[in-house]
Amino acid sequence: MSHAIHDFTAKLRQPSVWPGVLDYVKWRRGVEAARAAGHPAPDAPPIAPVSINLDLTTACNYRCDHCIDWDILNTANKHDEEKLKSALAVMRDRGLKSVILIGGGEPTVYPGFSPMVRYIKSLGLQVSVVSNGSGNKKILEIADVLDERDWVRLSLDSGTNDTFVRMHKPVDKKLTLESICEWVPQVKAKNPRFKFGFSFIITWKGAERHDEDGSDVKIVENLHEIVQATRLAKDHKFDYISLKPFLVRSETGSEVMDPEKAEAHLATIVQRIRASIDEAKKHATETFKVLESTNLRMLEKGNWRDFTNQPKTCHMQAFRQVLTPTGLYNCPAYRGVDRARIAGKEAYADASAGDATNKNLAGILDRFDAHHECAAVTCLYNDVNWWLEGLVKGEAALDADTSGEERLDYFL
Ligand code: SF4
Repeated sequence: MSHAIHDFTAKLRQPSVWPGVLDYVKWRRGVEAARAAGHPAPDAPPIAPVSINLDLTTACNYRCDHCIDWDILNTANKHDEEKLKSALAVMRDRGLKSVILIGGGEPTVYPGFSPMVRYIKSLGLQVSVVSNGSGNKKILEIADVLDERDWVRLSLDSGTNDTFVRMHKPVDKKLTLESICEWVPQVKAKNPRFKFGFSFIITWKGAERHDEDGSDVKIVENLHEIVQATRLAKDHKFDYISLKPFLVRSETGSEVMDPEKAEAHLATIVQRIRASIDEAKKHATETFKVLESTNLRMLEKGNWRDFTNQPKTCHMQAFRQVLTPTGLYNCPAYRGVDRARIAGKEAYADASAGDATNKNLAGILDRFDAHHECAAVTCLYNDVNWWLEGLVKGEAALDADTSGEERLDYFL
């Protein structure tokens, strides 16, 4: 299942997405040809990303040590709700197909969370929510509007309440891991059609997060609770648990894997993770899956550095963007990072703002040297970026026959 989720090339080759890919590739071929001939580059076509990460708010009611967005949380920046709704409609008309409410703040803390989810669904878009679990009452409120292509995932990262509280430090002291999980059967009873996941970021002794002031914050270890968390998830009717390794923000602002920051030798940590996952997998059934992230398999195989060799141009900047209350960014790995900013938060608020954003996209495609900038990032989009690079640089005729199988999965 996680292989298919991360097969971004197959997602872009779907017949419903492929015409937008063709527009992009033809435009970029035109840019290269014009430059080679010494002519001005053609303007970008009116495009929008296929998928966005939408940060509704920067507010968060947890204080997680392992949070990669620590430096951009709880600021005064806000969306103008009417402009945000207009932007979603403009993007939908230009090719947007999915919205992931995630990161940079807790989505359910946004006061208009439930009406916004209903609005996104009314536009015919797929929607997913990544939440810290504190707002499950609102998940119950929106459950009826979600369908089999949508999903909700809770970032819980623990098998005991003690570890949950030490890792996440919820502001509401009455909140417990059990009380969060107890909402899930209620939500499933209301609407069993969409998938409900338990996310577990695996941390180990010695892992650290670099703080803005230059200090290193020690991360609470949870590796020993993988099996307990799996049992908890299964008992509370989650559809799956997904297991992924801890990432840190590098000094250049990107999200990277830094397994060398571990007190035990990396091989020992990987062995401990493998033993726990093998044990956890014994609890898997037809209706409850134990999923390992692509990053985790890379860590285990020791080939994660292969995914750090990016082409100079990151083409995925055109297909998946991050819209936040501080602006529009080129990649989830660079939320809040100035040089990765494509436009302000009103980037697509109307058609002319969309046109201006397309011009800025042309600028960042030239300016942002992913080969250099992302040289430390284990990029999940590495394969799809090289495939797009091949299409842009290739001579082959582009025709509709090269589209692939329709999966109706638009999350990038
Ligand atoms: S190369 Fe990967 S990490 Fe870098 S901007 Fe593109 S998608 Fe993000």
